[in-house]
Amino acid sequence: MIIEKLESRVINGANCFFGEVEVTEQYTGYKIKRGDTIIGIEPLSLPPLSFRTKAFWIVPCGETEQKIIAAGLDFAGGLHGAEHALIALMPLHVMCDRWDIGGLSCPSFGEDGEPVIFVYDGYEGGIGLAEKAFEVLPDLVTTSFRLVHDCLCEDGCPSCIYSPKCGNDNQPLDKGATTMVLRELYPVQDKVGDINGETRINRHLNPLVTV
Ligand SMILES: [Zn+2]
Ligand SMILES: [Zn+2]
Repeated sequence: MIIEKLESRVINGANCFFGEVEVTEQYTGYKIKRGDTIIGIEPLSLPPLSFRTKAFWIVPCGETEQKIIAAGLDFAGGLHGAEHALIALMPLHVMCDRWDIGGLSCPSFGEDGEPVIFVYDGYEGGIGLAEKAFEVLPDLVTTSFRLVHDCLCEDGCPSCIYSPKCGNDNQPLDKGATTMVLRELYPVQDKVGDINGETRINRHLNPLVTV
C-alpha cells in the first residue's frame, strides 16, 4: 500500500517513484531441508506482519505490457523477474545485503490497475537503501538488464532471476519477459544531460548494439 509519494522521475516513459509504503508480509509455512533437498513443508498460522518503510517503485508503461503479450510471454513473470534482478544487483550500487531488501510486483496494482514493481527496505521506517537506489536507478536498471540479458541460461537461473528468498517460490518467472521489461526501461533518455555525461551514455549504449 502506498502511503505517500515523495519523489518521482521518468525513465524511458516509465514513471518511477520513491516514497513511503506499508508492507504486509505473511509467513504461511516453512520448509524443512536436509542439505539442499526439501523434505517437508510445515504450515504456520502467524498473523500477517505489517510495517511502514521506504520503497522505490517502477510503473512500466502500457506499451511494455502490450509488446510482451504480443510476443506470447508472461507479463507477470517479467515483472517478477525484473524485481528479483533489481534486488540481486542493489548491493552493487547501495551498501546492503539482498536480505535487507524486499520486493513485490504485480501486473495490476491498486485502484489504477497499473503494473508495478516495488523494492523496499526490509526494516520499519526504512534505512535509506531504497532512497539511495532511487538516486542511481538508471544504473541499477542498466546492470539488471545486462545481468539477465547476458546470462547464458535459457529460462532463468539462480545467477539471474531466481531468488533464494522469494516468498512465492520463484513463481511466476519468465526470462524473456524480464529482459523485455528491463530493456524498455533502458535509461538512454534519462542519461542525456546527466551530470556524468558521456561516459555513462557510452556505457548505456553498448548493450543496445548487442540486443
Ligand atoms: Zn540465468
Ligand atoms: Zn519473488
